[in-house]
Amino acid sequence: MTPSLDFLACTRTVWQATPDMTLRVVTAGGLVVLAAWALGRRPFSGQRSFAVLCGALALWLMISLAENAAPDIGCKTTLGLVGWSVVLLQPALWTLFLYQYLHTKPHEPPWRLRWLYAAPTLVLLALALSNSAHGLWYGPATALTPPIAGLPRARYDYGPLFYAGVASGYAWMMLAYALALRGLRTTPPGRRRQWAAFLVLMTVPLAANYAFLRHGWRLFGADPTSLAFSFVMVGFGWLATRSQVFSLVPVATQALFTHLPDPVLVIDADGRVLEANRAAQALAGVAPTLGSPLAAWPVFGQALERRLQDTAGNALITIGAPERQFEVHVEPLGEPRRPLGLLVQLHDVTERESERRHSVQRLAERLAENEAERDQWRDQAMRDALTGLWNRRALEQWFEREARSHAVLTLALLDLDHFKRINDDHGHAAGDAVLRDFAAELRTSVRAGDAVFRVGGEEFVLVLPGLDVAMAEQRLALLQAHLGERPLGGLPRPTGFSAGVADAAAGGFDLPQLLQAADEALYRAKAEGRGRTRRAA
Ligand code: GH3
Ligand code: MG
Ligand code: MG
Repeated sequence: MTPSLDFLACTRTVWQATPDMTLRVVTAGGLVVLAAWALGRRPFSGQRSFAVLCGALALWLMISLAENAAPDIGCKTTLGLVGWSVVLLQPALWTLFLYQYLHTKPHEPPWRLRWLYAAPTLVLLALALSNSAHGLWYGPATALTPPIAGLPRARYDYGPLFYAGVASGYAWMMLAYALALRGLRTTPPGRRRQWAAFLVLMTVPLAANYAFLRHGWRLFGADPTSLAFSFVMVGFGWLATRSQVFSLVPVATQALFTHLPDPVLVIDADGRVLEANRAAQALAGVAPTLGSPLAAWPVFGQALERRLQDTAGNALITIGAPERQFEVHVEPLGEPRRPLGLLVQLHDVTERESERRHSVQRLAERLAENEAERDQWRDQAMRDALTGLWNRRALEQWFEREARSHAVLTLALLDLDHFKRINDDHGHAAGDAVLRDFAAELRTSVRAGDAVFRVGGEEFVLVLPGLDVAMAEQRLALLQAHLGERPLGGLPRPTGFSAGVADAAAGGFDLPQLLQAADEALYRAKAEGRGRTRRAA
């Protein structure tokens, strides 16, 4: 008869005491206590999985105890099939717990894949419970054997699905092994011994199960697998109490994450914020739902998103009102080949930045001051102190820089007549006053583009761009007439001047030559009686 779920059979059966009853009951009780103890501790990664695991294991122990204690084959096979629900769950929960523990965060594995993880186990469970329909789990040859250790036992006719169930359990356990090995590899040396002990512990139920299935090894006449798993849990509990590290380090990590004054975000590969510490939530101003896209986060979401996409860009982002500057530190998570996401830390550098901007501003101001001062010095070096007119060096520079831009220009060399006499008759100060006055007259008489220089004691140069000698002569004649009516420096009599003019067309602007020519003309003006202007020959 194909084994099926027949709970009525269990109500009819006459239960018998089994030799391992006390051991199993005590162990199951111990597991319930262990679960309660774990839940009562401060949060640690995988806490709930651990408690559920203990509970499931206790249930497994009790179901298998009942299965042994029932002499009726119908009840035995019913309990055997029901027992699979916890048997299948066991290694999956174990793997889940290790995953959570290893990732030191109270988070589940990637939730998008949760059905992928759970589906095979659930399908197998459904197949176990519906054995009566197919008999592929326990076949029709399942029957009672002669009593073992004084108790009637069932010899199960294992079908292909039974082996699939076992294989699924082993697959989970292999995954758990891989996780524990990774724990061993990635944990700091101080915590390695625990992972090593863990790996050794995990071998016990596998060995027990193998020995039972393969060689029919029994403990008190029963399948030792569930007891062996319990042994692992108790061992883990012992490890956990012996060293606070198992629970403390993840708690400390979590506390650090939570209370860090810098906003920190965990962003997955799809750009969703999986975790945000208090500072990040405070910065956003609200507590947006975790799992929402980064760009949807208020205040910093979009600026940070842009920054993360533009990896070559500035590591600073400016956000909020009033504006604040944050330095962005990005730590890729996962292996380079398979990036899982990013750990992003924002460090408020507003003060530092404003300080930096201020000092840059101060520096710029000082630079501008220096430049103004330098210009002033340069200007002074180009000017004559007595009259404020440009000096000879300035005349040379004017020619270097500007002469080229004019088609024609005239240079006039002016010399005050009998100036020595003024000094002699009225004193040097009066001479200075005449020079200053004369300079002022020159300045007011010239046009915007003209330039006036004092090139010697009482010698001056006018550069008149755009004028030829004839036009220059007219202008100087006007000035001479004007000065004839207006005495300079408060003297009783007017002071006259003589001038020599020379012009040049583009390409012929040679200052020494022009000066030489104008000087010769000036000489003639003096020689011909002063108070007049002569042009270069
Ligand atoms: P001429 O008509 O031939 O030019 O006669 P002059 O007396 O003007 O010429 P001279 O070259 O003999 O004299 C120039 C005088 O100018 C000599 C010098 O003492 C005087 N002088 C030069 N620089 C200054 C100055 O800065 N201030 C004063 N007060 N006199 C100066
Ligand atoms: Mg002179
Ligand atoms: Mg003179």
